[in-house]
Amino acid sequence: MIYTKVIIIGGGFAGLKVAKKLHKTKMDVLLLDKKNHHLFQPLLYQVASAALSPADIAYPLREILKHQKNTTVLMGEVHSIDKEHKVVHLTNGIKYTYDYLVIATGAKHSYFGNDSWEEHAPGLKTLVDALSIRERVLLSFEKAERIDSNLEAEKYLNFVVIGGGPTGVEMAGAIAEIAQDTMFKNFRRIRPEKSKIFLVEAAPRILPPYPESLSKKAKKTLENMGVKVLTNTMVTNITHDGIETKNGFISARNVIWAAGNQASPLLKTLDVTLDRQGRVIVDKDLSIPDFPEIFVIGDAACAIDKKGKPIPAVATAAIQQGAYVGNLIRKEKPKSKRKPFRYFDKGSMATIGKLKAVACVGNFKFSGFLAWLAWGFIHIAYLIGFRTRYSVMLEWYFHYLTGMRGARLIHETIDTEHDPNSSSDPSIQE
Ligand SMILES: Cc1cc2nc3c(=O)[nH]c(=O)nc-3n(C[C@H](O)[C@H](O)[C@H](O)COP(=O)(O)OP(=O)(O)OC[C@H]3O[C@@H](n4cnc5c(N)ncnc54)[C@H](O)[C@@H]3O)c2cc1C
Repeated sequence: MIYTKVIIIGGGFAGLKVAKKLHKTKMDVLLLDKKNHHLFQPLLYQVASAALSPADIAYPLREILKHQKNTTVLMGEVHSIDKEHKVVHLTNGIKYTYDYLVIATGAKHSYFGNDSWEEHAPGLKTLVDALSIRERVLLSFEKAERIDSNLEAEKYLNFVVIGGGPTGVEMAGAIAEIAQDTMFKNFRRIRPEKSKIFLVEAAPRILPPYPESLSKKAKKTLENMGVKVLTNTMVTNITHDGIETKNGFISARNVIWAAGNQASPLLKTLDVTLDRQGRVIVDKDLSIPDFPEIFVIGDAACAIDKKGKPIPAVATAAIQQGAYVGNLIRKEKPKSKRKPFRYFDKGSMATIGKLKAVACVGNFKFSGFLAWLAWGFIHIAYLIGFRTRYSVMLEWYFHYLTGMRGARLIHETIDTEHDPNSSSDPSIQE
């Protein structure tokens, strides 16, 4: 018997949902991902800020799909797609044919054409990114402690987060907590609580897609935590010494990039129309024009809702799109019989720190402890696996009770040549 062959590229929120929808079908499903794990990106900033460990927010794809006998998981990076011949090419030269193809390759951060900034301002998309940011932040305090010159030490105690979206807000709040709570009384020569944390946003307000009242609340909460929120501040350059903006220079050895997204370069090989972020402009059924067997979903897709607005690049949209496409493939619906994808907006929330968050569900806006509680429940509910849920709950309990962070480990040695912060700074050599 010949089974319908389905290839899914990407085991993130969107791709994994498609795979699960094809459980117990007579289809032969191949899930390809360059990583061996599904990553819960909404909690990445907690790994970057040493509150959680990588294994708390990542789960092996094989383990998740081990009971799904019709599904094979293969680790590999897809290099190009030949849509005319229905072939997917991997970087190692292997190729696979398909009847249906689902592309769910997500997005990565973009520096708006200034790729050299990445060296000084890492972004937050993968576990490696989160660990690298964690390393930089923790090393900064260590370096500041070793420096005799106060002026030089200050540079290591200045932290800049660029981008006032949810990730930037969460990251700035977390660094403020590290400086004020976690590191408190840990050092003898420096006072971590005197660290300066800047959140820089080009738009007139932080959390731009949220209602204005919540943006104001988030700003006030951050300011109360000691974060300087600089809006209307466009970054023009980033160097080893800090950031240049239209309003002046900020000296800092620690800059984190939380602005701008770019879809995976793989999409260019499809040879279809892309939007400014490199996402595929998909039809109403999330397939691409003239190729009803190819779907693009999640952060890789530019899809429009029934009001003509772009569907946001969030996990809930990716999951809903995955479920929709999984059902279409399961029923082998021809394009003419497919109802358009409908996005159901479940609301947005961003946490700012311990017991502090803002949330907006329909017309209902709330903030503070209630929003934080809702944020916590939702994130725990969406985490995959009993072990991760349990360990995240325990870590949070421990952190919120004591202010301590369980993953405060530095892997590099402080004088390592690979340390980006130490490159040419004579003042820290002993
Ligand atoms: C720091 C951060 C915080 C966020 N916070 C929230 C939040 O609070 N709430 C919310 O709703 N959303 C949040 N998001 C957005 C949300 O995580 C994304 O919208 C969601 O992950 C998109 O799912 P996806 O399946 O499209 O892509 P992803 O989850 O990114 O998965 C893409 C997968 O494709 C794989 N892949 C990529 N290219 C290839 C290739 N060429 N070959 C093989 N495999 C490949 C990747 O390894 C990855 O596993 C956040 C995102 C980030 C980065």
